[in-house]
Amino acid sequence: MKAAVVRDFTAPLVIEDHPVPQPAPHQVRVRIEACGLCHTDIHAAHGDWPVKPTPPFIPGHEGVGIIDAVGDQVRHVRLGDRVAIPWLAEACGHCDYCVTGWETLCPQQQNSGYSVDGGYAEYALAHGDYVVAVPEGLDPLDAAPLTCAGVTTYKAVKVSGARPGTRALISGIGGLGHLALQYARIAGAETIAVDITDEKLALARELGADHVIDARGQDVAAEVQRLGGADTAISLAVSNTSFQDAYASLRRGGTLVLVALPADGTLDLPVFDTVLNGTRVIGSIVGTRQDLAEVFRLHSLGRTRVIRESRDLDDVNTCIEEVLAGKVSARLVFDLR
Ligand code: NAD
Ligand code: ZN
Ligand code: ZN
Repeated sequence: MKAAVVRDFTAPLVIEDHPVPQPAPHQVRVRIEACGLCHTDIHAAHGDWPVKPTPPFIPGHEGVGIIDAVGDQVRHVRLGDRVAIPWLAEACGHCDYCVTGWETLCPQQQNSGYSVDGGYAEYALAHGDYVVAVPEGLDPLDAAPLTCAGVTTYKAVKVSGARPGTRALISGIGGLGHLALQYARIAGAETIAVDITDEKLALARELGADHVIDARGQDVAAEVQRLGGADTAISLAVSNTSFQDAYASLRRGGTLVLVALPADGTLDLPVFDTVLNGTRVIGSIVGTRQDLAEVFRLHSLGRTRVIRESRDLDDVNTCIEEVLAGKVSARLVFDLR
C-alpha cells in the first residue's frame, strides 16, 4: 500500500510502499478514502512538541474509510461500515477519566498518526471500540475534516460556555476556525472572527461572522473591547501573539479556551488582572467519540459547511508548505479513492 511516512523531523515526508497491515483481534482495518491535513500533522512531522512521536511513522488523524477486515473480538462495527479514525486512537476504558466521559484525558491513550500509524495511507488499523461510524450519505471528504477540526472546535465551543447573549471571539479561521465559527453561531453567540489573510477574513464573513478583525493592521483587543469585550475567546491561530490578543479581548468573567499548539506556545498571564477580572483560562483537547457522533449528526442535518480542497497524497509536502504559507481555503483533504 502507498503511505506517506515521516522518517526524520528535518526532512520532507517520503512516499513509500508498505505491506497492507493485518488487524489484531481488537482491531479493524480501514481502506482509507479520505484523510484531512490537520496543522497537528505538521507539528508531528517537525517534532514540534515536548512529547515527540518516534520516526518512522505515518501521520494523519482525520482518516475516513471502509472497514475491509475485522478482528474476531470486534463487536460494534462490521465489514463494509464507513468509519472515522480520530486522534484518540484508543484509551484504557477503565480509569476515572474514561468512565466519566473524559476519555480524551486518559493517561494511557494512543494517538493516531502520532504514537500509532495514521491515515496518510491506503489502509490503516484502528481499535474497533474507538472508530466512529460515519452516517449514511455523509461525503467522506467532508467527514475527514470533521474528524479532528470539527470535533475539536465543537468541544471547545461546548466548554467555552458560548450561548445566546454571549459574545465569542474565534481567533484563526483555518481548518479548525472555520468550523469553530459555525459551532459558535449554532450555540447562539454573537461572533467575532480574527485572521491575517484576506481570503480567511472573506470566508468568515461568508460563514456569517457578526464582526471580522484583521490582526495585521487592527488592534484586536481594542476592537473587541469597543464591542463590549468577549465572554469567550477560542484560540486556534498558531501564534503566541494571538493568545495574548485573545486574553486581552475578554470582558470580566470571560473564558479563554486554548486549542492551538505552536512549537513554543506560551501565554504570559498577569495574575493580578486574571484574579480581579475573574478570568478563566482553560485548555481543550479534541473531543470524545460522542462529540464526534454529534458533529456528524449536525453536518447530516445541513447545519455546517466544510470548506475543503481535495489533493493527491503524492503532493503531501507541497500541501504542508501551502498550509504553512496560509494559502489554503480552509482544509486540504487527501482523496485516496
Ligand atoms: P490552520 O493552519 O488551518 O489555521 C490557522 C489559522 O490561523 C490560519 O487561518 C491562519 O491564517 C490564522 N492565523 C495565523 N496567525 C494568526 C494571528 N496572529 N491571528 C489570527 N489568525 C492567525 O491550522 P489548524 O489545522 O486549524 O490548527 C490550528 C492549531 O490547532 C494547530 O496548532 C493544531 O496543532 C492545533 N490543534 C489542536 C487540537 C486540540 O485538540 N487542542 C486539535 C487539532 C489541532
Ligand atoms: Zn487535528
Ligand atoms: Zn483511561
